[in-house]
Amino acid sequence: MSLELINVWYIVAAALFIFGLKQLGSPATAVRGNLLSAVGMLIAIVVTLFSQGIMTYTWIMISMGVGAAIGWLAAQRVAMTSMPEMVALFNGSGGLASLLVGWAALYNVGNTSFTDITILLSILIGGVTFSGSIIAWAKLSEIMPSAAIVFGAQRIVNAAILVALIACGVLFCMDPAVDSPFLYAVIVLGLVFGVMVVIPIGGADMPVVISLLNSYSGLAACAAGFAIHNNILIVAGSLVGAAGIILTNIMCKAMNRSLGNVLFSGFGAIKTATKVEGEVKPITANDAFLILEAASSVTFVPGYGMAVAQAQHVVRELGELLERNGAEVSYAIHPVAGRMPGHMNVLLAEANVPYDQLVEMDDINPRINNIDVAVVIGANDVVNPAAREDENSPIYGMPIINVDHARTVFVLKRSMASGFSGVDNPLFFGENTRMLFGDAKQSISSVIAEFKR
Ligand code: NDP
Repeated sequence: MSLELINVWYIVAAALFIFGLKQLGSPATAVRGNLLSAVGMLIAIVVTLFSQGIMTYTWIMISMGVGAAIGWLAAQRVAMTSMPEMVALFNGSGGLASLLVGWAALYNVGNTSFTDITILLSILIGGVTFSGSIIAWAKLSEIMPSAAIVFGAQRIVNAAILVALIACGVLFCMDPAVDSPFLYAVIVLGLVFGVMVVIPIGGADMPVVISLLNSYSGLAACAAGFAIHNNILIVAGSLVGAAGIILTNIMCKAMNRSLGNVLFSGFGAIKTATKVEGEVKPITANDAFLILEAASSVTFVPGYGMAVAQAQHVVRELGELLERNGAEVSYAIHPVAGRMPGHMNVLLAEANVPYDQLVEMDDINPRINNIDVAVVIGANDVVNPAAREDENSPIYGMPIINVDHARTVFVLKRSMASGFSGVDNPLFFGENTRMLFGDAKQSISSVIAEFKR
């Protein structure tokens, strides 16, 4: 296939990526958007394989087979609640691939100085993304503590690594060679820097670091695209980089933090929340039913526990029963509820909850005083009033859904345990709070059984 024709097909693929991304902006069109982007990627891959000058098809087929087997197994085995860990690993793989592509591009003859710089960038950003993502994965899967790890001279050490990285990078570009000692130094320092950047981030700030690493993996791919002169890799990489940074910005805004503050303040490392104590008022499913039956407005506030319990289908069923009973029903979504961006939207869409019943945090808060019952399903940090009131709390300043302002609050969870950030929640002791202890799916099923009786 001629270079011109390959580039025409690349433009088609790029257009599909862009339309696909646009459609991902709404739950109603997201599935179609995903499909469009996947078709674009298929075109990009097939057309790239027509390009001559890459390795033999035998090796390509073997690699594709191995990759497809790993992807298939991962998709089959991973639990919905472990998706963020898988995303972190995929980001890391993207970073590692860019590092290796950049490294391999050094073997090409006739590289220009510009290409050498892009090779350096793909190796550097790829390395940072790889090791940073591995740490994010370890924190999310609790192989290592999810809290921030900070130590005395951390910023000085990080600054020293950065200066050394820049120096080695410049020296490498002055005399680029496959066996340059500065190349090895850049690889090692890049990997160390990735670790150092992510360890001081923890607790409720993890969503930001995940989307930031996603953005880095795109930037690394973009640099790799320049390094091997592949237009579609440049386009796809920059789309991922831009989308990741926009998402990072949205997450920061949702948590009322600046990116600098997230990256450099060391979440939960210094502050200790005020201890909360008080009387807890447990209720039974029957008590909950009696209150819900009399309610004229109910809002469900899902969190990570709904994903663990896989309670979304019974929640929708209860919502329908309440509507039939004359109540106005809504689902209030916090932007960082769950363990990945859009986690709650995905689960509720899977359970066919109507989109028009989903309400964003900023829309529910002004009218939450008029809600009869706010039913918190396995959410904790995103409804923790300490974020609003306790200046000593590590999550102070993070906007929350003000469920404590509703007339009555039901909290469905298994114990008094804290949420992802490890911070105690005064909501559980509130005057208008009732705790319905147990697995969320079982608790809701019991309330449904009361309704049907
Ligand atoms: P939290 O992690 O704060 O709380 C979840 C609660 O669910 C726990 O307190 C737990 O209590 C309860 N729970 C667990 N299993 C069940 C079950 N089977 N039935 C009932 N309850 C259950 O979740 P939130 O959604 O409120 O907050 C999300 C947190 O995760 C935030 O801190 C956010 O910053 C962070 N995060 C978000 C990401 C994102 O992109 N959305 C990514 C990474 C982190 P118990 O054990 O007592 O049942």
